[in-house]
Amino acid sequence: MLVEKLLLNVLIILLPIFIHSVLFDNKRVGNSPYLCGVLQSIAVFLSLAFSFEDGGLFWDLRYVPMVLAFLYGGPIAGIMVLVSYLTTRTFMGGDLLLGYVSGFLAALFPFMFVKKFWTLDANKRIKTAVLVGLWPLLSMLLILVANIFINDASAEDTNQILMNVAIFGAIQIFAVWVAAILNESLIEKDLMRKEILRAEKLNTLGELAASIAHEIRNPLTVVKGFLQMMHKQEKGDNYYYLSLVLTELDRAESIINDYLNFAKPQFEKLEDAELAEIITEVTLLLEAFAAKEGVQVNVKLEWGVYVKTDRNQLKQALVNIIKNGIEATDEGGEVIISQDGAGNESYVVISDTGKGMDSSQIARLGTLFYTTKDKGTGLGTSVSIKIIEAMGGTISFNSELGIGTKVEISLPAYRNFVDVRSLNHSV
Ligand code: ADP
Ligand code: MG
Repeated sequence: MLVEKLLLNVLIILLPIFIHSVLFDNKRVGNSPYLCGVLQSIAVFLSLAFSFEDGGLFWDLRYVPMVLAFLYGGPIAGIMVLVSYLTTRTFMGGDLLLGYVSGFLAALFPFMFVKKFWTLDANKRIKTAVLVGLWPLLSMLLILVANIFINDASAEDTNQILMNVAIFGAIQIFAVWVAAILNESLIEKDLMRKEILRAEKLNTLGELAASIAHEIRNPLTVVKGFLQMMHKQEKGDNYYYLSLVLTELDRAESIINDYLNFAKPQFEKLEDAELAEIITEVTLLLEAFAAKEGVQVNVKLEWGVYVKTDRNQLKQALVNIIKNGIEATDEGGEVIISQDGAGNESYVVISDTGKGMDSSQIARLGTLFYTTKDKGTGLGTSVSIKIIEAMGGTISFNSELGIGTKVEISLPAYRNFVDVRSLNHSV
């Protein structure tokens, strides 16, 4: 039966992936071309050995391992599989010329995709693999049609062959699709493991850095104090230099503070704060900066929504994000801050008409020291995210290159009705 043999072939196709995931857990698919080449060569050999013969035609999934090897293992793996195919095919005998030609043809298309493949994201890679996998199917179809014409097959035979083609096509697409999905999940698992390792390392490093930053801050404060005194008394040449030194010291201090804040947001005094009031204060704070950059800041507020927080921390979080919005926006653009509440949540949406970010830039947001600015610190966003999360809120970034960015913050909040009632009493 064709279907049975082909299903056996599907298992053969999946074999390399299972072997890879069980025995070579620490080797990433795609990073070990020789391993991939060997495993897929075995699959080619087996699928040739277990092919279904019908009237001189052989039905099997021999080209699938080749496609997978080229795409996921790279050119070396692909060529290894091609060589194994040609060798096995030679030993099998039959119409060798046709076998060689179709082998090379089947390798050609995936070979052309080798470079482009890894520039795609996981979903597109799966789709590409399925599409590339259609190519050998097409060439197979051509050969079959030619076969029908040359041999002048009867209608019944033709129907049978067409039926086989349909089954074969469906199973082959299915095989490539499943194999690609499994490969992608292996890749993702590997990335995740690396990410966890990295995060652990960073964690210890981060603690170390935080304690150093803390130690540096104290002498820095002393130095700054004395320099400020000297600055006041200085009338001569050094006045200018001392001013410069002081601004740079301020910068160093703010970086250290930001970093410490990131490492451990300090909620010193929790109080009920009205969101609209905080936002008003923050916009006042940034008014001059926005004016200097020629950016209009528009605010839409809803009064009466309260959050429990350390006011200074929340202000810091908002300042960082609004400032980024202003910095990203060209002269004449605008930044809109709108705040409203619903139930136990309150939303602050900060959107700008700035230069925006692409998906890879968005993904890097919140990574310490990631900045695209000359004088940037790459701390602002990380600090804001940390503070919002410490408040039990969430923050999300949507952005489009050239159009603008929208930052949505949601915070646990409540409406203060007590005020209203006590007001009624006193009336
Ligand atoms: P910094 O502002 O010091 O560069 P941040 O952590 O605040 O550090 O921001 C990191 C990077 O994220 C910025 O350099 C910028 O490239 C990008 N970014 C953040 N907010 C926006 C925004 N609203 N529009 C465009 N890019 C942004
Ligand atoms: Mg910033």
